[in-house]
Amino acid sequence: MKYCQQFQSQLLTWFEENGRKNLPWQVENSYFVWVSEIMLQQTQVIKVIDYFANFIDKFPSIQVLAKADVSDVLQMWSGLGYYNRARNIHKTAVICHEDYHNALPLDLNELIALPGIGKTTAGAILSLSFNLPYPILDGNVKRVVSRVYEVKADKLSQLDKKLWKIVEQLIPQKNPKNHNQALMDLGSMICTRSKPKCNQCPLKNICLASKNNTIEFYPQKKAKTKQVPITLYALLSVVDNKVLLHQRNNKGIWAELWFLPLFSTESELSKMVDQHEHKTFEITHVLSHRILTIKVSVIYAEPDQKNPEDIWQDLSKIKNIPHPTALLKVLEFL
Ligand code: SF4
Repeated sequence: MKYCQQFQSQLLTWFEENGRKNLPWQVENSYFVWVSEIMLQQTQVIKVIDYFANFIDKFPSIQVLAKADVSDVLQMWSGLGYYNRARNIHKTAVICHEDYHNALPLDLNELIALPGIGKTTAGAILSLSFNLPYPILDGNVKRVVSRVYEVKADKLSQLDKKLWKIVEQLIPQKNPKNHNQALMDLGSMICTRSKPKCNQCPLKNICLASKNNTIEFYPQKKAKTKQVPITLYALLSVVDNKVLLHQRNNKGIWAELWFLPLFSTESELSKMVDQHEHKTFEITHVLSHRILTIKVSVIYAEPDQKNPEDIWQDLSKIKNIPHPTALLKVLEFL
């Protein structure tokens, strides 16, 4: 592959001066690297910093995490979204506790076999914690590599194969840790999605997209996921600064999280509130695959019927239970 050594050395020189070296998970601790990588999958660094600190404070080791209840893990994840990440972190911690003496395995294939760990996360764990020469291909790295080499393909599965081949060839035997960190930093700080700062980029002289003025075409766009509109009917029942909450089952959106009791139709919800003075409002909440319209009816009384397992939660202690961000959005209306 053309430019390989030039790519590596220019990138590393830039990293030494400009790269991020003091993030809280940049320590030689594979547990910290793993947790941060999972959190960073759909969330920006600035938001992850606080969540990471609270998570590690509560679960300082794989052993502590493995012995925790999954609802405590979900609680620490509340507001980060994509809650399967938290469930998988817990499942993986249990496996590591039982099968790997409270550590993550050092073998790529064994890592990939664990819940929630793909090739990129495995590469990050092995390179960033142990300085082993395994590449990563997260969104930032894809963007840089796609642009420098103008990578395109007819099918998206081929595109990923081509990109993996390039990052595998680019990974140096010497100091792969800094190489991977540098690529991620370059993607997030310089080669940004819009308005990349090519004038400050260490790869400008070898970047084909910059040279050919084709940056806007890279990375090749995925077909946009269709977001399905869904309407939910929710009962917001408030008594003495407490709100009635229902724990959702383990399937579908917000699995196992606490939210307001939901009804399938507007008339079912109406039946619950007709006998009470009530007001109504609605909010819109966007998830990756769905656009939720949540129609809420508020009563300041106990509903005539309730599920025996529902709980009255103090409004000041909502953060103590696992909940989706949409719950906080709804409660802002009180
Ligand atoms: Fe990205 Fe511009 Fe650098 Fe190319 S020159 S890698 S497009 S920032």
